[in-house]
This record gives sequence, structure tokens and C-alpha cells, in this order.
Amino acid sequence: MSETAQVNAFIDIDPADREPSLDEFRQIVRDFISENLPADWKGVGALEGEERIAFVNGWRDLTTHARLLTSYWPYEYGGRGLSKLYHLSVAQEFAKNKLPLGRPSDTIAIKLLGNTVNAWGTHEQKLEYLPRILSGVDVWAQGYSEPGSGSDLASLRTKAVLRDGQWHIDGQKIWTSNAMNCNKAFMLVRTDPTAPNSKAITMLLIDMHQPGVEVRPILNGAGSAELCEVFLTDAVTDEANVLGEIGNGWAVTNSLLTSERGEEAATNPVLFAQEFERVIALAREVGADRNPGTRARIARSYKELAVMKAMGDRILSGYVRDGSLGPQASISKLYWSEYHKRIAELGVDLLGIDALTWEGEGPMRWFRTDEPGARNSSTSWLAVFLANAMSGTIYAGTSEVQRNIISERALGMPREPKAPAK
Ligand SMILES: Cc1cc2nc3c(=O)[nH]c(=O)nc-3n(C[C@H](O)[C@H](O)[C@H](O)COP(=O)(O)OP(=O)(O)OC[C@H]3O[C@@H](n4cnc5c(N)ncnc54)[C@H](O)[C@@H]3O)c2cc1C
Repeated sequence: MSETAQVNAFIDIDPADREPSLDEFRQIVRDFISENLPADWKGVGALEGEERIAFVNGWRDLTTHARLLTSYWPYEYGGRGLSKLYHLSVAQEFAKNKLPLGRPSDTIAIKLLGNTVNAWGTHEQKLEYLPRILSGVDVWAQGYSEPGSGSDLASLRTKAVLRDGQWHIDGQKIWTSNAMNCNKAFMLVRTDPTAPNSKAITMLLIDMHQPGVEVRPILNGAGSAELCEVFLTDAVTDEANVLGEIGNGWAVTNSLLTSERGEEAATNPVLFAQEFERVIALAREVGADRNPGTRARIARSYKELAVMKAMGDRILSGYVRDGSLGPQASISKLYWSEYHKRIAELGVDLLGIDALTWEGEGPMRWFRTDEPGARNSSTSWLAVFLANAMSGTIYAGTSEVQRNIISERALGMPREPKAPAK
């Protein structure tokens, strides 16, 4: 299929049917699932190797074609023009049925970049980028963190200077997920060396495949090179490739947190409950289900899952009421990520001596749980523990940073003193 045909392959929906009620829409999603779900479906994790990738890509195509991957994007860009609330029912129904909502790289391409383009982009940028994201032609990297500028992102030093209609970019990014497979990147860069951070940083969209961009993979604890360093030496991008306005990159990047956390609150409890079932099955498989220590850890996790679900419901109701999340979002992020480290460690402990070797299939994605339906192999639990769970307490705001936010904004404790300028 040609690139143009690929990017335009969406179903037509009669204008009269474009505003379903929430209940009607949930039924549309359920019908889509039952019409397309393979017989005897056990989840992506139950498939092997290439089969997994083929299923995820094929299912993504179907979902995109049905305008369900981003139902909240405008109709002309491949969505259904519905509110984010409708999207939550897609996310929930897919998670319940152990189905992927997009492929792993969509977390950055859709949730971060696509939604930002949708909110801040010009009409031309939307037309150029959104359909190409949906078709999968463009794979995006997120260039925010730098050595010395992670939690304190506002101190970033990569700079861009405008000359003869082009931005010239110099600096270094680090921990850039999947950068070796990306053809595009959105980057925060300093465009005004004298202005305060709120006016000095700009979001640029750049091509990764150019002489000024060098990507070096970093090996992680699970033996995979998912994260990268990106070196920029007079990398260039057209003057027009600013997302938002020059100097308001900080506002652009902060604006999307709310909708992201809303989706998380809807899907995390489902994903973690499915993973919890795997732990119980593993305890039985290895004959540890009568061990008092194991039972106590399982009981604690069970209780924590119930709290996570209640917290998710509370966040969702605030989101439905007035679109607000507040410090709840930080409490939830801290809670699920710390929970996940404990339960993943239990998985590894249950494997015992078998956890010394890597056997079987690992997760496709490096965040949250292994794919629903995955076998209890040592590779699955080791990778989830060493990569997915450990990193959950670091990306999107570390646990310490979340604790600061909670203590200052929810509990009204004094603000921490500002770090001296570097
Ligand atoms: C799996 C994974 C994927 C990632 N993908 C990307 C990506 O695609 N693009 C991207 O740009 N970045 C990415 N990151 C980077 C991530 O955003 C940063 O790692 C994160 O912001 C923390 O920054 P840092 O690593 O520089 O640690 P630092 O900020 O240097 O923190 C080091 C330690 O100090 C603590 N600390 C820092 N400040 C405070 C404070 N004020 N009070 C108390 N304690 C503090 C932290 O909690 C941490 O324990 C990814 C990270 C991971 C783990």
C-alpha cells in the first residue's frame, strides 16, 4: 500500500451517528472487539515471537481503521471527534480483553507527541503529522532529559539558534527511549539564553535521519538497549517546525499531563490485576502457595490493588467532573510504581534458583506489566522486575519528586529550597 493510501485508511461514519452517548459508544467498542477478536483469545503474551509483533501491528491497523485508536482526535485527522472520556472506555474495554491499544512506540508517538500536536499544532502541522502517526509511518522519540537535567528539566542546556530559516541545534539528550528506531523527535531546547525558563525553552520537531544527529544505545539491567544517548551537532530543522510558539515549550510540555494520568487511572488497575493473577498462578506452580511469607505478601498486594482501583475511580470521577486531577495524580503515580516494584520482586523470589537464568519470552514493552497472558517464564519476571518495574519509579517523575509534590501541594508543607544554579 502506498504511504498516502496508508495514511487515509479510516472508516466513514455517517454524520448523524457521530455523537453517540457514552453507553452507545461502549457498545460500539464491545461489538468491534467481538467481531474481530480471534477465537480462544488468551492475550498477546500467550503468543510467541514474531506472532506477537504481527498480532499487535495487525490489531493496531484494525483499531486505527475503525477510528478507535484516537477516537478523541478530530474526524479530519483520523479520530471521531469525541471527548477523552470516550477514549477511556476504549482503553478499559481493550485492557479487560487483554488487547493492546496501539503498539509500544505509540506511548510516545500518540500519547505524548500526537496529543501535543492535536492541542498545540497549527492546522498544517496536524495535517502533516497526525495521519502519519496513525499510519505508523513516523516513529517518534522524546528528547527531553539531558545529563544533569532529568528531574530538574528546566535546567536543560541543548540550545537552538535560528539562522537563515533554519534552527541549528547543539547539545546532548539522554535516556531517549527507542531512539535507534525513530525517524522523528520532539525536543525541548533552549532558544533564549537570557530569558527565565518559562520563556526560554522551545519545542522543536526534528528529523532523526540527518548528519547532525548521532544515536548511541545504552544497555540496561535486563540486557536490552531500549534507551539511548542522542548527540546533536549542528542538527537542523526548518523554522516552521516549532510546536506551540518560540519560548513557550515549557507550557506546551506541561499541558498534557492531565489527560495522560486520566487514562492511566482507568487502565492500571486492570493491567495490574491481570498481573496479580499471574503471581498467584506462579505461587501455585512452584508450590509456594501454602508458604506463610508468600501468602502475606500476596495478601498485601491484594489489598494494595483494591486501594489502587479505588484511587483510580476517584481520579476518574474528578476528571469526569471538571477535568482536574491535582495532587491525586502524584499519589497514584507513586502508589502504582512502588507497588509494581514489590510485586515484581515477589515474582522473581517465587522463581527461586530459576531466576538465575533467562528462559522464555520477555515483554514487548518496557513499561508497566508483561503482556497479558504471558507465561510465567524467568525472562518475563526478570525483565519486568529489572526494567519495567524499576524504571516505573523513575520516568514521568521519580518517586522522590512525587513525594515532594504530595508534601507541598497536598499536605501544605514548606517548599524545598531552590537548588543553587549549576
Ligand atoms: C525507562 C525510562 C525511559 C525514559 N524515556 C525517556 C525518554 O524517552 N525521553 C526523555 O527525555 N527522558 C526519558 N527518561 C528519563 C527520565 O525522564 C529521567 O530519568 C527522570 O526524569 C529522572 O531524571 P534523572 O535520571 O536525570 O535523575 P535525577 O533527576 O538526577 O535524579 C537522581 C535521583 O535524585 C532524586 N532527586 C532529584 N531531584 C530531587 C529533589 N528535588 N528532591 C529529592 N530527590 C530528588 C531522584 O528522585 C533520583 O532518585 C526515561 C527514563 C526511564 C527510566
